Amino acid sequence: MWIEWTEAEDTEGRGRVREALVATGARFFELPRGLCIVERAAPWMESLAQIRGVRAVTALRTPYKLAARTVRPEGTTVRIGEVVVGGRELVVTAGPCSVETPEQMREAAASVRSSGARLLRAGAYKPRTSPWAFQGLGAQGLEILYAAGQASGLPTVTEVMSVEDVERVAEHADVLQVGARNAQNFPLLTALGKIDRPVLLKRGPAMTLDELLLAADYVLAGGNPRVMLCERGLRSWDPATRNLLDLAAVAALKARTHLPVWVDPSHGVGRRELVAPLARAAVAVGADGLLIEVHPRPEASWTDADQALGLEGFAALMRGLSLDCALHGRALSTAAVRDEGDLEHQRRRIDALDAALVRLLAARVEIGQAVGVGKRHLGHPIHAPERERAVLGHVERAARGLADPTAIVRAFEAVIRETRGAQEA
Ligand code: PEP
Ligand code: MN
Repeated sequence: MWIEWTEAEDTEGRGRVREALVATGARFFELPRGLCIVERAAPWMESLAQIRGVRAVTALRTPYKLAARTVRPEGTTVRIGEVVVGGRELVVTAGPCSVETPEQMREAAASVRSSGARLLRAGAYKPRTSPWAFQGLGAQGLEILYAAGQASGLPTVTEVMSVEDVERVAEHADVLQVGARNAQNFPLLTALGKIDRPVLLKRGPAMTLDELLLAADYVLAGGNPRVMLCERGLRSWDPATRNLLDLAAVAALKARTHLPVWVDPSHGVGRRELVAPLARAAVAVGADGLLIEVHPRPEASWTDADQALGLEGFAALMRGLSLDCALHGRALSTAAVRDEGDLEHQRRRIDALDAALVRLLAARVEIGQAVGVGKRHLGHPIHAPERERAVLGHVERAARGLADPTAIVRAFEAVIRETRGAQEA
């Protein structure tokens, strides 16, 4: 059960609610905006809504509590430096699977930054299936990652595998990642609840969404509200892809939780040629963030070489993503232009969007042709001035946020002429 306070702070009313709950042995958890009953909730508690200072009492029928969407229907945004995750903007995090050398990290960081990544990723502590495989550079890797983050100006994301390492990793990185294999390491989750750093919690390869949200509750219950979730693929029977990327989970999670949801298509598919299409699909299903493995020399990557994008492959993906975001009511989070490289990158994004605008116009003309055939069939005149005026009216309303809606309407007059021409032809 979720008891939400009114905006006006009513100390006495809140005190009465607490007393009533304590008297019944209910266990509850306090958040700034209300109080979440996590044990022994009972139907009579709905009457607490009568107490002054209580805005509403809502039943929480899910096993997870603090992560439930009901607790924050408007969604949580997580700030990492200048970057905000969970709002209208899609945030892309990119970088190598593992920290290898200072040069590799510097090169990767500078390049992904100029391509539009807002955060830099790389693992120093690597969870490897084989004990004989490269295990990551550990503390030395953290130093290298830290330096690459400083040099590029990108906040960093890196995995922490054990409770003993939490403090050191938190000192060197901006976001602490819990890897898929550790997603139910409860002591680790509890320790991450105590730190002042955002946590990126990956879904384990066999975890239900309830289990994932309960894992998030461990961190939230520790007092750390900055939790983000990440879908990275489930274990499946088909070796054609490394994992089975569960994009349905993204849409489902967005409905169930207020926490931001990321997608990691790199581990999800495990093959570089499939990363871009799945990244775009992730935007379509509502992802707030993407985690992408990028390496200056992908084939030579010490870990996960098959799934790493090259620097140019990543840049191309980023150019396309602006359009995917726009089509789904989002915007690609973008840093301020700082140098010639940034300027060049932004211009290429504009070129990609312009090309897409023309493709949209072509799609419009195609529909217009079908309408023309229909008009003839129904015996209507091809030229319909009233309808054209209505279309321009819609455009004008849609363009209201822009500086000069009239100019946009004029541009659409040309579009209408093009469509009419196609109908008359
Ligand atoms: C990673 O992101 O480096 C990683 C190891 O991913 P996962 O835990 O999803 O396998
Ligand atoms: Mn990897």
